[in-house]
Amino acid sequence: MTQPLTAEQWNSRHPVGTPVIAYPGIRPEYAAEIRTTDYPRLETVTRSRAWNLGPEPVVMVDGYAGGISLEHVDLRPTCTPMDLFVGPEICLDRECDQYMTDGGEDTGIDQCSHLRQEQACETHSVEVDAGRFDPAAPWPCPHTVRDRPQSSAIVRATALEG
Ligand SMILES: [Zn+2]
Ligand SMILES: [Zn+2]
Repeated sequence: MTQPLTAEQWNSRHPVGTPVIAYPGIRPEYAAEIRTTDYPRLETVTRSRAWNLGPEPVVMVDGYAGGISLEHVDLRPTCTPMDLFVGPEICLDRECDQYMTDGGEDTGIDQCSHLRQEQACETHSVEVDAGRFDPAAPWPCPHTVRDRPQSSAIVRATALEG
């Protein structure tokens, strides 16, 4: 593991609202070691600057009450959209009927009608081969956590009624 950041280093690099994955209990590496999958994992954003709690730098995140050790907080890569062609393997390999005439000649088409273009999240799709993703994460990506939870929307709605 890399050397953990001090609170000062963290604050100079990662402003409040930074997307993170927080492990308030145990880290996944340790969970694997003791053969458990039962540990809390939060995909969230920071909601405070880091500070030193005794010898340990901690930070607060949305969805959790106390400070969490920086050692238990990983940066969460932000989601990026990409365009993908989706369809049967044979079509992705350019081996279906439409790419070849009966005489075995290349028809010269770019892509067959069995493929459709879709958007996917590049960050959360699993690349199994160069340029090939399985599974592809949908876009908008479910991993994208809104900057603020819905409570602000409720506040706004109530304010309008008043
Ligand atoms: Zn994503
Ligand atoms: Zn095809």
